[in-house]
Amino acid sequence: MHLPRAAMLLAGVLAAAAPLLQAGAKDAAPAATAATAPPRLIVAISVDQFSADLFARYRRHFSQGLARLQDGAVFPSGYQSHAATETCPGHSTILTGVRPARSGIIANEWTDQSIARADKRVYCAEDETNPASSPDRPVVSARHLNARTLGDRLKARDPAGRNVAVSYKDRTVVMMGGHTIDAGYWWRPGGFVSFEGVPVGPAAQAANRTANALIAKGAPAMAVPSWCAGMSRAVDAGGTSVGEGRFLLERGKAAGFTISPRVDAAVANLAVALVDEQQLGRDGATDVLSVGLSATDTIGHTFGPGGLEMCIQMAELDKTIGRLLAALDARRLDYMVVLTADHGGFDVIERQRQQAYPRAVRGDSTLTAEELGKYATQMTGITAPSGRLVYGDGMFGDRYISRQITGAERAKVSEALVARLKSHPQVAGVFTARELAATPLPSGSPQDWSLKDRARASFDPQRSGDLVVLLDRGVMPIAAGSRGYVSTHGSPWDYDRRVPILFWRRGMTGFEQPAPIETVDIAPTLAALLRLDTTDGDFDGRCLDLDGGPVNSCEVQP
Ligand SMILES: [Zn+2]
Repeated sequence: MHLPRAAMLLAGVLAAAAPLLQAGAKDAAPAATAATAPPRLIVAISVDQFSADLFARYRRHFSQGLARLQDGAVFPSGYQSHAATETCPGHSTILTGVRPARSGIIANEWTDQSIARADKRVYCAEDETNPASSPDRPVVSARHLNARTLGDRLKARDPAGRNVAVSYKDRTVVMMGGHTIDAGYWWRPGGFVSFEGVPVGPAAQAANRTANALIAKGAPAMAVPSWCAGMSRAVDAGGTSVGEGRFLLERGKAAGFTISPRVDAAVANLAVALVDEQQLGRDGATDVLSVGLSATDTIGHTFGPGGLEMCIQMAELDKTIGRLLAALDARRLDYMVVLTADHGGFDVIERQRQQAYPRAVRGDSTLTAEELGKYATQMTGITAPSGRLVYGDGMFGDRYISRQITGAERAKVSEALVARLKSHPQVAGVFTARELAATPLPSGSPQDWSLKDRARASFDPQRSGDLVVLLDRGVMPIAAGSRGYVSTHGSPWDYDRRVPILFWRRGMTGFEQPAPIETVDIAPTLAALLRLDTTDGDFDGRCLDLDGGPVNSCEVQP
């Protein structure tokens, strides 16, 4: 495998530091304090689309970074508890400790009929008030995030703390980093970029040279681990064949980089370079490094999460995280890792049917907002001056009725749509904004929540639709498979809601807790460890005791 330059440099650093590392291991803090003393660096890793199902399926094969993290506090049944299991809402919960109902990040995109833009779509991580911003090329901003991240809180306490975030995806950077990011990088065709007007620093410039050289040169198909060998089987996913891919990188074709484990390696290498550039973990103020590894998601959407491609990705992810941790060790940093995911995933329906899940079906294309608008016009005779009666994205989620018609007309349209949706065999739930606004924020174990509770957890009265539509379990909201997009997530079902949550720090007493927890528990857990001043009600989650012994990391002394 072609090793990016930073990785080779890193290997050199590692070799040189080996004697130091051995000395460091002996000096490791005693078990009782490793889960309770504030670390100098929080490394928050999000593996996009890393479902609890993927973790369960592959965890016995992990031997590198993910194996190490499994020696810490392991929560195999974490919940992104809300219904809108998309990237932006999911990432908004991880370091804020609040659900999308409070963070305001209800979806990747929503409709705002007050804006001038013709399609009325707003991207979660954009500043649409900037005239240069468009959904295709957003001016990236955290203005929609109505919550503070862990990095924001640390910097408010001590401005010397650094808040750094890097990912393939801009929304991951913004939702994990928040409002006070010192260095934030994400990928756009051509290389890593940063916020409008912020120059790309030397570390990211070097990462871009390495990535672009790799894309220009190409790379051979990746090795298949022995435990993936039996999985190479072609499946026709609605006109495109998946299941045998090995990530050949054809010369000059960037997709062989971005839809492959290579993009995770590039992000992790840049994260390490930013540790040096930003001097993370070196002084008394705790720093936060957020690392968004997106390849599991790009591979999941392109090939489905159930085939050979994902098996290879799991092996490469394990190695990439191993190299990241080894680089932090080589720098003798005192860090704590938390790893989780923004949502889970569901395999392509053709493979689901072959593998004993016959009820998996493609979604009905008459469920799109546009088709629902046509239906409502047929039933009520009502039309909107703009020609668009119902706004919304895809087959499920928020549905917005035109504000260009009267309140009475809107009520009629809503009634027609609710009746249509409630009688549709693929719809599991349809809730009006009024119903959801009257529903209390859910509490108790997320596995027991009703569909309405799940929808409530990602409902914001200012941003959510007039209707929220939830599809039935097993319905893939893709009407026809296409090359590059064969499966997705976003449902209120546990295959999309359940994600692993792992905490690790050198010397901590590991344990596994199978009971459900939530991703909103992560921020209060770290806040306690970092002695942040918080008050009741700051978080939707609760502090998790990370010490596997008698000490309680939630009851540490300031
Ligand atoms: Zn995602």
